[in-house]
Amino acid sequence: MDCIFCKIVTNTIQAVKVYEDAEFVAFLDIHPVRPGHTLVVPKVHYARFDVTPPEVVAKLWQVAQKVAAGVSRATQADGYNISINNGRAAGQVIWHTHVHIIPRVSSDGLDLWPQSEYQGSEAERVAQAIRQAIKIS
Ligand code: AMP
Ligand code: ZN
Repeated sequence: MDCIFCKIVTNTIQAVKVYEDAEFVAFLDIHPVRPGHTLVVPKVHYARFDVTPPEVVAKLWQVAQKVAAGVSRATQADGYNISINNGRAAGQVIWHTHVHIIPRVSSDGLDLWPQSEYQGSEAERVAQAIRQAIKIS
């Protein structure tokens, strides 16, 4: 399969790996938001988070928590952002499920989440639609 992360898993292309077990690999992002920016991937290929089996998701987040603790300690971070870009609109460009771990310090000046305000009854309308969608999913 023509997937960069599958090739990293099989060592067909190089990456700077920081963790590996039977089911997961973690390696440095080639274009880090900050030094130590790490990606955690399942060895089995799933194109995106929403089609990744729940039992793989559960283990993926367990591994990500462990790797994040190491990233955080090693980079003397005050915290970290941990996230998944699911789908093109969310910025996903590599179609193999992966968790980003981005170590942060208070002084780094990054503003990853520009925020807005709800107007009038918009929050309740949106919430009602989400409640319905969760029920039928
Ligand atoms: P996403 O936008 O969530 O799909 O993120 C994909 C990430 O993979 C980006 O942050 C890229 O910098 C990173 N990336 C792409 N190719 C490689 C590679 N060969 N080794 C390490 N990281 C990569
Ligand atoms: Zn893959």
